[in-house]
Amino acid sequence: MGSQKTATYDGRIISSKTFYNVNGNTSEAADIEVMLSGPPNNGPTHGELYTNASYTAVFDVLNTYTDISVPLTLLQPKSVGEITLASADPRDFPSINPKYFSDADDLETLYKAVEIVRNLENTTAFQRLGIEPIILDLPDCDADYEKLSKDWWICSIQYLTIAGHHAVGTTRMGNDAKTSVVSSELKVHGTSNLRVVDAGVIPDSISGHTSTPVMMVGEKAAEYTNASYTAVFDVLNTYTDISLPLTLLQPKSVGEITLASADPRDFPSINPKYFSDSDDLETLYKAVEIVRNLENTTAFQRLRIEPIILDIPDCDADYEKLSKDWWICSIQYVTTAGLHGVGTTRMGNNSETSVVSSELKVHGISNLRVVDAGVFPYPISGHTSTPVMMVGEKAAELIKNEYA
Ligand SMILES: Cc1cc2nc3c(=O)[nH]c(=O)nc-3n(C[C@H](O)[C@H](O)[C@H](O)COP(=O)(O)OP(=O)(O)OC[C@H]3O[C@@H](n4cnc5c(N)ncnc54)[C@H](O)[C@@H]3O)c2cc1C
Repeated sequence: MGSQKTATYDGRIISSKTFYNVNGNTSEAADIEVMLSGPPNNGPTHGELYTNASYTAVFDVLNTYTDISVPLTLLQPKSVGEITLASADPRDFPSINPKYFSDADDLETLYKAVEIVRNLENTTAFQRLGIEPIILDLPDCDADYEKLSKDWWICSIQYLTIAGHHAVGTTRMGNDAKTSVVSSELKVHGTSNLRVVDAGVIPDSISGHTSTPVMMVGEKAAEYTNASYTAVFDVLNTYTDISLPLTLLQPKSVGEITLASADPRDFPSINPKYFSDSDDLETLYKAVEIVRNLENTTAFQRLRIEPIILDIPDCDADYEKLSKDWWICSIQYVTTAGLHGVGTTRMGNNSETSVVSSELKVHGISNLRVVDAGVFPYPISGHTSTPVMMVGEKAAELIKNEYA
């Protein structure tokens, strides 16, 4: 038996967890987690975990009110799965091959863990409580191997093991763009302004469960993002400086909203596709030129108003400061959404290209009106909330007239 660390866990299902380094190496990282799941009513029955009827039959001998189970978790698998793009379409699901037990060392490690658990039977505590092992009938293993031999256990491990679903490393962090996807600041190598913030960035399996470490990755990412934006705007004095925000009123970029499923309670998938039409960048650049011209006006000069040109590291590195390319980069960097979404249920006569009629009625459905900014056919050259109130007033009038 290797080094051992124990932690108690005050839960209904799991009463304790122990971490073992069964391979006896010098690493601090445990390679096996032993849980003690105890009665009453152990939680999900094995039959619920295994949906196949032949598996359910194997576990039918267990009594979920009185038996305890000692699940073993392989924390540092040597078997490495594969994830590959199924196509060039980013919306296609990737191909995932977890390749469980493709490295036979993982079976050996789990077998060592089985030996640890078998040794528990000889402890005073287990003997005092009269705890005896229930050796399952596993027809496929029983047929081929001597019961309880090492080969039988190795067979049963492959037969009974389920995935812990603690996948990591799909977009691993590292310095080398050939062997990793993101830098230590979570930025995708070779792509500006794109971070990955999930368990994919964890380079290797951790000796534990993944959800809390992933929350820490999220906190770290928020810190990085805040710091980079705060540094850009830190030069501004919010008491004395004036700002001239530019709003693109007629974007040519059009977003997409699609149903995520047939369940109306599911949130739809929304892809705003900001700046997917590069004309929008050109239009905003023309607006920048207008603002730059203000500096030459008598009014601005009399008040000694001078521009503050921000340091934007990602743009400064790639483009000559104040060149058109630099402004186009900075527009993409500092722009925020106005959140004046319209046209998701646009009004029109053609039911192929619109959702509601000029009376706000949904084409092809009786007695259903849409009354919100979704009915605007196109963005308006202004802010949306007052026009939406007018849509509401109009809808009230239409309904009153219909029932009058
Ligand atoms: C941060 C922000 C700032 C903005 N600033 C301005 C501004 O300064 N000036 C301006 O003119 N416009 C502004 N807008 C835009 C403006 O607020 C919207 O265009 C307008 O509110 C849209 O109205 P609506 O009725 O279409 O949708 P909403 O105002 O979003 O109303 C939809 C309502 O439906 C409810 N709802 C959703 N799902 C369900 C459900 N299943 N069952 C029952 N109810 C449901 C929601 O709770 C909500 O009350 C801003 C928008 C945002 C987000």
